[in-house]
Amino acid sequence: MNKISNHLPTNELQALDAAHHMHPFTANAELADTGALVITRADGVNLTDSEGNQILDAMSGLWCVNIGYGRTELADAAARQMRELPYYNTFFQTTHVPAIALASKLAELAPHDLNNVFYACSGSEANDTNIRLVRHYWAAKGKPTKKTIISRHNAYHGSTMGGASLGGMKGMHAQGGLPIPDIDYIDQPNWYVEGGDTDPAEFGLERARQLETKIAELGADNVAAFIAEPVQGAGGVIIPPETYWPEIQRICDAHEILLIADEVICGFGRTGNWFGSQTFGIKPDIMTIAKGLSSGYAPIGGSMVSDEVADVVGKAGEFNHGYTYSGHPVSCAVALENLRILEEEKLIENVRENTAPYLAKRWAELEAHPLVGQARICGMMGALALTPDKASRAKFASEVGVVGLICRNRCFANHLIMRHVGDQMIISPPLTMSRADIDRMIELAVKSLDETLVIMRAEGLM
Ligand code: PMP
Repeated sequence: MNKISNHLPTNELQALDAAHHMHPFTANAELADTGALVITRADGVNLTDSEGNQILDAMSGLWCVNIGYGRTELADAAARQMRELPYYNTFFQTTHVPAIALASKLAELAPHDLNNVFYACSGSEANDTNIRLVRHYWAAKGKPTKKTIISRHNAYHGSTMGGASLGGMKGMHAQGGLPIPDIDYIDQPNWYVEGGDTDPAEFGLERARQLETKIAELGADNVAAFIAEPVQGAGGVIIPPETYWPEIQRICDAHEILLIADEVICGFGRTGNWFGSQTFGIKPDIMTIAKGLSSGYAPIGGSMVSDEVADVVGKAGEFNHGYTYSGHPVSCAVALENLRILEEEKLIENVRENTAPYLAKRWAELEAHPLVGQARICGMMGALALTPDKASRAKFASEVGVVGLICRNRCFANHLIMRHVGDQMIISPPLTMSRADIDRMIELAVKSLDETLVIMRAEGLM
């Protein structure tokens, strides 16, 4: 019997954690000195740590707990499914009811003819599937040279070799020999940081037209697909100017390039519609899904594929690809229950019509704070760009991220989980956040920003 439990003192848990647990995206030696924050329970929008503190989770874990914590219906669905059929695979001409039921439900919810799902266990795996799928598709259509996938600098599409190669994060490429061949990049539509004096609408067009230039440079005969998130999440909640997506869509259509919308964050209500593609009027050939699909209660992801792509691939013989846990019955059962809750409790409508407009109003008030240059929001995801000079959107004299980290640390001290990307603070709260929760979040954010300003002045950073 494992004697390690919630009842151990925090320092003992931290010491064991430091001794044996290699954390993702973490300088582990550094963490061993400070000790990780130990989360023991969660309910609604609140976490509890091992010291008994209540913490407001404005990030929904890692952008995933869309229905909030503590929904026992999902635990019951998992237990029921484990008793009935804990595992069976979907290779070799077999299937099972949860995989069928979830695929049918997803086909109903996904826009236009995205009626087919290839299951994975995560967003990274689903994007790896996408790389193989689009290349296989074009080869099956007699165009095997259409292999290159165009992505964007500072994009995040996962951590596997394929996912991290599709991503445009320099720090990730620098480790482990990335990117894999035949991936290329254009610039992101990040007006606040990169737009200079250009008008946002003009900037959106310029950035979209880089895709056309890149296709011309590579030759359309060599390009398989373009991949992007409707709103970049991990890149810093970058909401593209309105002109961006229509131009991207036009370019993909004009040059016969498949469009992959990575909906891992934007999917399942985050932007106020079921999918970010609907919010931005995009018609992708493939959508990557994960996170909000099960609200993080069980690992599951997938690729929603158009009838045309699925048909071509389906008729091309065996697609030599799959994961042991593709369509895992327990994850499928949990996801189905999660979708039932999202739908029956009208959580997405409530976001669109009630809480997102309220959050937008309260969030915008933060622009009055001396440190905040821009407070942007899309549905239930938002960012605060910190700056020493609002008019010029200047960077701080300190290294990028120093101020963001100070603010993040103040948030944690005030029992609010906000994340920082460089010197921008980001949120992605559960869709179940009430107006009262939003008020509390804003209050804690203001307190943390005020304290950040005091520290910066004391340390001569401002
Ligand atoms: N795509 C996007 C847009 C993501 O935000 C993430 C995760 N943050 C992934 C892919 C990778 O998903 P996972 O961590 O489930 O592999």
